[in-house]
Amino acid sequence: MRKEIIDLVFPNPLPSTEEIEAKYPPRQLPDGAIVTRTAPSPTGLLHLGTLMAALLPERVAHQSGGVFILRVEDTDQKRQVEGAKDLLLHAMKDYDIPNDEGPVLNEAEKGIYGPYVQSARREIYQAYVKKWLEEDKAYLCFCSEEDNEKTHEMQTKANIRPGYYGPFAKCRKLTEDEVLANLKAGKHFIVRFKSPGHYSKKILIEDLIRGKREFPESDLDIPIMKGDGLPTYHFAHLIDDHLMGTTHVIRGEEWLSSLPLHTQLFAVAGWKAPKYAHISHVQKLDENGNRRKLSKRLDPEANVTYFDEKGYPKDALIEYLLNLGNSSFEDWRRQNPDKSYKEFPFNIKKIGSSGALFDFVKLDSISRDVIGRMSAEQVYNYALDWCEKYDVPFATVMKENADYMKKILDIERSGVKKVRKDITIWSDVKKESSFFFDNHFTLTTGEAYSILKPLSVNEIQLIVKGFNELYNPSDDKNTWFEKIKQVATNIGFTCDMKAYKANPEAFKGNVSDVATVLRVFLTGKTQTPDLYAIMQVLGSERVTKRLSIV
Ligand code: GLU
Repeated sequence: MRKEIIDLVFPNPLPSTEEIEAKYPPRQLPDGAIVTRTAPSPTGLLHLGTLMAALLPERVAHQSGGVFILRVEDTDQKRQVEGAKDLLLHAMKDYDIPNDEGPVLNEAEKGIYGPYVQSARREIYQAYVKKWLEEDKAYLCFCSEEDNEKTHEMQTKANIRPGYYGPFAKCRKLTEDEVLANLKAGKHFIVRFKSPGHYSKKILIEDLIRGKREFPESDLDIPIMKGDGLPTYHFAHLIDDHLMGTTHVIRGEEWLSSLPLHTQLFAVAGWKAPKYAHISHVQKLDENGNRRKLSKRLDPEANVTYFDEKGYPKDALIEYLLNLGNSSFEDWRRQNPDKSYKEFPFNIKKIGSSGALFDFVKLDSISRDVIGRMSAEQVYNYALDWCEKYDVPFATVMKENADYMKKILDIERSGVKKVRKDITIWSDVKKESSFFFDNHFTLTTGEAYSILKPLSVNEIQLIVKGFNELYNPSDDKNTWFEKIKQVATNIGFTCDMKAYKANPEAFKGNVSDVATVLRVFLTGKTQTPDLYAIMQVLGSERVTKRLSIV
């Protein structure tokens, strides 16, 4: 294209592409090191898919000794939402998804392959757009949005593949004189790619997750520079991933259909294309039993903040996502209960190619295990953090009784083979500990009798009184249990659980019924962690008081 035209398009000086390339030297990394990035467009809520599209590349990059980049894709200025970028940076920090390059919360951008926010790269893109105009790889398009809508309507009606290509690429046919006249007349324009493709040709492209796939070659003359001088996503992807030395693009499956275009852009530029891996969306069943993508509008769990509010530990959500990504995570976790999830050898090739259904039962089970691996001190700190945001009165109780709380949380935790699993989300800490506090423990004898049916009031009273008489807070666990057995025997309940199970009709009750009676009077619940440990923490005063109400 004539210099006169290009000077009108870019009246201000731009760096040459050679100058730009010189600022982005090839990376010196060991063999096999993967350079990858997450490239979100911060447009509001933080979607679960966005977290997944950050976590998986981060794992892959860091496990290979490579580089993980955060690039903020904000070229669609209309869709930008104030504060969305910070929300993202907070999440990356809170969820411990560290990027080696790009923006970081409250710090200057890191890395020498930046800037990493696309709106700050305008000149770079324009330098390449200019070059492509010079080399006839791109052209100016003066079609208005209305023109394009009309064409689209016509194509849809006539059942023709929609788009700006072949016979529909009107401006591709303009002569340079016509282009110049339009420019001089001040007509609005964009820049389009001059696609060399033929739709009837088939090409094979490899996706690391989905294998080799056949696509029709792309013949779309897509916009590469919009009216506001910023690039489109496709062009920015080409320029940035080339300059930043990205070896692998790991992104959502919504971009799979753009693969023929993207590989074509790399070919036209004469650059090596990165390897691609398209991650399936997390799905959900709709009311008719059909699978659909989690939707920000319809599903609260599409929003990462939802899990914070509910009180899931951050690591639980991360482990859940890893488990969705590589189904072998579950076995690995079982075999390596004490390792950090960061040691799990995450494998891109083992990412499932069909979308997994979001499963709260699984998330809950992972969450119970994650909390089960924590120390009492950690559970206390995380739960307190959560309560300070979402349950201030209980946060106060926790702070005023910090030592007592930690002892409560340590029951069936340190030094046991089977750790308690009664805490799934942070609000369970209150649910499972409030009975330890007298002002939260309001059980009446009537309520206890009703919980303990079909045991008779007489039997219950004999048990409670009988144990209270024998109770000695300094008993060790064996002696304590012997006393429970003694109470059972005294009232004609059996201690032989095998015999009881074989023929329950032959007995009035058993030793476990005795423990249940005590449990209900002491905690208001029929199921708790170890009763002996609970009594130790409650202390003799509370135990005696609670057993004296009958
Ligand atoms: N900005 C795109 C998105 O948010 C990035 C896709 C990519 O990773 O290339 O989906």
